[in-house]
Order: sequence, then structure tokens, then C-alpha cells
Amino acid sequence: MPTMNKKANSRYSMQQCMQMAACTNCQSCADVCPAVNAAGDGRLSALHRMRGLQQILKSRNSSGWIARLFGRKELTEEEWKEFSETVYRCTLCGNCQEVCPVGINLKDLWVSLREDLVDEKHFPKKINMIKSNLKSSRNVFDEDNEERAEWVEDMDDPPDDLFVRDEAEVVYFTGCTAAYFPVAQKIPLALADILLQAEIDFTLLGEDEWCCGFPLLGAGLKDMFTEFAEHNIQAVLEKGAKTVTFACPSCYEMWKEHYPYKENGIQIFHSTQYLEMLIKEEKIPFKSLDMTVTYHDPCDLGRGAREFNAPRAVIKAIPGVTFVELPNNRENCNCCGGGGNLEMVDAKLSAGIAKSKVEEAISTGADTIVSSCQQCVRTMLTYAKRNKINIDVLDITQLVRKALEMDE
Ligand code: SF4
Ligand code: SF4
Repeated sequence: MPTMNKKANSRYSMQQCMQMAACTNCQSCADVCPAVNAAGDGRLSALHRMRGLQQILKSRNSSGWIARLFGRKELTEEEWKEFSETVYRCTLCGNCQEVCPVGINLKDLWVSLREDLVDEKHFPKKINMIKSNLKSSRNVFDEDNEERAEWVEDMDDPPDDLFVRDEAEVVYFTGCTAAYFPVAQKIPLALADILLQAEIDFTLLGEDEWCCGFPLLGAGLKDMFTEFAEHNIQAVLEKGAKTVTFACPSCYEMWKEHYPYKENGIQIFHSTQYLEMLIKEEKIPFKSLDMTVTYHDPCDLGRGAREFNAPRAVIKAIPGVTFVELPNNRENCNCCGGGGNLEMVDAKLSAGIAKSKVEEAISTGADTIVSSCQQCVRTMLTYAKRNKINIDVLDITQLVRKALEMDE
């Protein structure tokens, strides 16, 4: 039996414990959970997870206020193992938090719980890979970080400096997936074309861009995070840039919630916000596209950063495009299955969640699912292609790139 771990107990604030005690067992969180629905397994629900967490807290405290709230009960090794497996089979989509009638801040609780399980050494061994990859290569895929900007070579007319410049007004922070995954590289290729068309003075950070740190927090490895945040802020400051834009919602949310960007005089924009601004300034001339599209709100941009309007404004600004909402949209949007490192831990469950998502999109009659996240695009596109489903999946930057007048 693990001994009581003081550091792990400090993972939970008094407020978090009080919130857990306020749970009414209403099960609303289980009803909307994509993991529960795809796996048909109630043990993946927020409710079950909170009961398990309460049991952990009981097992540690024989006295004090936690014991008074929850009583005391020991966990067996088998219970630790089984519980840990359910904790990591979660996309961190935040839908449970969105519907919880007593306002429990569940997403933060899941992150604290993962940190706790890492302290207790009860976590999937694949999580060690994230840690060692980021330590050795500074990107989550253990690629050579000097090759971060190599996707630029696939442009029609790539500049010699691959957009890695000494100084610029704007930094485009690419993110690991878009920098290295061939399917996702279409997103930076599209955004670079748009920025060129709009005559934006931008640079990439190249090898000086390190992972934003999102996989570290999602895995429960918060202690390594600060080094990554400090490095990336410094890299932006060295370019003299005052603006950073991101096509990845997770990078954007990491900066928004955890980076000291405001203190350093930096403004940040997700690509949807930046594109909306460029459209308003009439810097992006459009041609008409004959398409019917629906929009999938990425969890980190929608429920996380509460940005629902900018992507819809961008889509609706393109002439000829018919826009149809998904039955579950905005704050109630269903997850695509790609978040929370789930694919690494349980690829089958991730694909099961993607299946429900793609089926929901097909029900709208749209010919294209648009999202604003490389991971959402990758997850839905992979499912659609593997199953020969006739629906296209595009990032919003790809949609805008398709509509640029420069193609005519
Ligand atoms: S964050 Fe999403 S996947 Fe995880 S428990 Fe909540 S609803 Fe389920
Ligand atoms: S929705 Fe909130 S109150 Fe209801 S069971 Fe889930 S955590 Fe408890």
C-alpha cells in the first residue's frame, strides 16, 4: 500500500474538496461524456472518478478536515491500477464541467488528479515517453527540433530563410503536431500563404520553438512546464514581436492560461481571431466557394477559451459557403476524441469517439467538416478515410486558403 504522500495531498485545494463534497450524484456529467458513450462504460464518468478520488483522500488522511469530510478507507494496489486506467481514458474535453449543475471545476480536478497519480507512480507507462521526448528533443514526437520549420519547403515558393527571421512584428507559433505530422502540415502551409497574401511581417521561431507544454499538463507532469513557458516567451521577445498567433487551440490556451505574456507586453490571438481581424481590415480578398460546411468547436478553443464567434464569422465571410450548425454546437459541442493524450493511451476509444462525431456531422448534410485545430482535423479525417466515409475535413485556415483570390 502506498504511504501517505504529503505533496500529492497538497494537489487538491480546500475549494476542490468542498466542491467534490457538493456533488449531488445527478449523473449529468456521465450523460454527456464522450468516453462513457463510446465505450459504454460508466467507470469513465466524472461521477465515478470523483468517488475514486474521494476514496484516495480517505486512504491518506486519518485525521484533519479531509477525513472529517470523507471518512477513511484504504485502497488496494488493484484498485489504484483500475482507477488510474479510467482517469487517463478521458479527453479532458470539459463537457462534464459544462453541464455540472453545482459548478464543480471538473477539468482542473482531472489535471490535479493526473499530477497526483504521477506522484504516486500509478500512470500509463506511455506517459514516460512524453517526459523523455520533451526532455531530449523539446517536441512531443522526439523529432529533431532543428527541423521544426522544414514544412515550409513544401510551399510553392519557399523563402531561403524558411520564415525564420531575426525580427518581425508577428510570431506564428506552429505547435508540435502541425510542425511534424504530414496531414497537419497543411495547416501551417495554408496559414503562411494567408499571412503572405495579407502582407503580414511574420516569423517562425524555428528550432527555438519548444512544445507549448500542453502534453506535460495533460499528463500530470506540471513540474517540467515552467521551463518550457519561460523559454518560449524569451524566444518571442528576442524577435522583437508584440503579437503571437496560433492555429493550435491547445498552444493558445496554454499561453492564455499559464504564460506570463501580458507582463511581457505580448498580445496573443488564435488563428480564428487573427483571421477575423484580417478580414475586417479587408486584407483577405475572397473568391466564391460552392460548399456546405459544418463547424466543430475544438474543446480547448470553445469550452476552454470561450471563443465561439470568431470561427463562425470567418466561415460566414466567405462568399458561396452555406453554413450548417451541428446538433451539438458551441459550449455543447461533442469532443472529436483527440484530446487529453487519449489516443496514446487508448486509440480504440479515441476512434470510437471520432465515429460518433463524424456521424453527427454527416447528419447535417454538410460536405465538409471545418474545425480550427490540427488534432481535431487529424482525428476526424483519419476516421473518415479509414472507413471510406465521403466527407471532407478541413482546418479553418485551409478553408480560407481555398477561398483566396490568389488562386485565380
Ligand atoms: S473531460 Fe470529457 S471525457 Fe473527460 S470525464 Fe469529462 S466529459 Fe468525459
Ligand atoms: S454533473 Fe456535477 S453534480 Fe452531477 S454527478 Fe456529475 S459531478 Fe456530480
